[in-house]
Amino acid sequence: MRVAIFGTGYVGLVTGTCLAEVGNDVICVDVDALKVARLERGEIPIFEPGLSPLVIDNHAAGRLHFTTDAESAIAHGEIIFIAVGTPPDEDGSADLSHVLDVARTIGRTLQRPAVIVNKSTVPVGTADRVRDTIAAELAGRGVDVQFDVVSNPEFLKEGDAVQDCMRPDRIIIGSDSARAITALRTLYAPFNRNHDRLVLMDVRSAELTKYAANAMLATKISFMNEIANIAERVGADVEQVRLGIGSDPRIGYHFIYPGAGYGGSCFPKDVKALEHIARSQGYEPRVLSAVEATNAAQKERLFELLGSYFEAQLKGRTIALWGLAFKPNTDDMREAPSRTLLEQLWNAGARVRAYDPEAHDEVRRIYGMREDLQLCDSQYQALEGADALVVVTEWKAFRSPDLGRIRELLATPVIFDGRNIFDPQAIESAGLAYYGIGRGRSV
Ligand code: NAD
Repeated sequence: MRVAIFGTGYVGLVTGTCLAEVGNDVICVDVDALKVARLERGEIPIFEPGLSPLVIDNHAAGRLHFTTDAESAIAHGEIIFIAVGTPPDEDGSADLSHVLDVARTIGRTLQRPAVIVNKSTVPVGTADRVRDTIAAELAGRGVDVQFDVVSNPEFLKEGDAVQDCMRPDRIIIGSDSARAITALRTLYAPFNRNHDRLVLMDVRSAELTKYAANAMLATKISFMNEIANIAERVGADVEQVRLGIGSDPRIGYHFIYPGAGYGGSCFPKDVKALEHIARSQGYEPRVLSAVEATNAAQKERLFELLGSYFEAQLKGRTIALWGLAFKPNTDDMREAPSRTLLEQLWNAGARVRAYDPEAHDEVRRIYGMREDLQLCDSQYQALEGADALVVVTEWKAFRSPDLGRIRELLATPVIFDGRNIFDPQAIESAGLAYYGIGRGRSV
């Protein structure tokens, strides 16, 4: 099929590439000319495992094109995806300006019938606004072109995005148009062979499903962080509690890891946006407010632990950080817990030596060159002369370190494990002090 995709970020680029991989003819449009030029040269602007060879191969095969020319993309697409960003506005609501810009552009140039598919995460009612915006532009031009607007929220996870796109758990389609549903069923057929993953529903329910899914996942994390904070105070180990509760199939083991808080481009903004949606309807979302407040406090937990250990004397100290990205297998630093810690440490007068396998460019882009931040070439180099090691992101390469080497390199033999990836006893046996999240060892 002929597909156009607006937005070549994590969602648009991965979706476009996977659709090209199964034989569709895809044009990806972005307003960022630099990004488009880089993609045309085969340079992938984000780190996403497995994505680069797929982009290069499909581009070379002539099935995947990149452009800033929206008009030609709209002329090409029988299916037109909107996958642009919906960042939080100042009041926490989703900023729909990019989505509505695309809708206006479509309305200004659409010449023949098309299915418009919204993949961006958007408040309930946005599909109606997109439809009205396109219809108004068409009316202004005095043309009558048939089009449908479908909600097809995206559930891919950064770090696993290609795999998630190729083998989705579910494909939600919110639409009451038989024509649009048939088009999307055909488009998604290659990803839907093993069993039917299509879940059909009305547009508003589809829009709410995306927020509900992310809010549920964020709730699980904040809940476990709350249990961790209780465990710390009563001398229990939350990791044992986690195993104990996960064995109940009604709870399950997935996504109940305590840590330094959630970050990324989705959970924080989507919880806030859902809160805003609820309040706009006169409903106070008590659980969501608590989820967000608990997370904000949890992002400060590592700094609190460091402050207690060093008796608030952090000025002039050097702290080593392992991991900066908001989670492993990505270079994404949006709302990363490491940012809270970095900024708190700098404000307290500490210096940071840090290592992340992928996020250094992003960190430089955000913070520029600073005297009090040294990005190191390896995880061990980051430890040289540091007063403490703090694990912020649970990259696989950090899981079985050389403990003897850590002890040798650190000026003070102490580890703060913000992701509970280490066995406390093994660390202590190696002559290092250990503090995790909710592991019954108060500082
Ligand atoms: P992103 O910020 O990585 O990319 C968005 C892209 O859209 C940018 O390249 C930007 O230049 C482009 N853009 C903005 N306005 C445009 C316009 N008028 N025309 C063409 N391109 C335009 O965003 P993302 O992470 O890919 O997220 C996109 C949407 O998908 C958001 O609503 C997000 O909440 C949702 N989502 C994201 C993820 C994720 O893991 N990142 C997962 C599921 C859903």
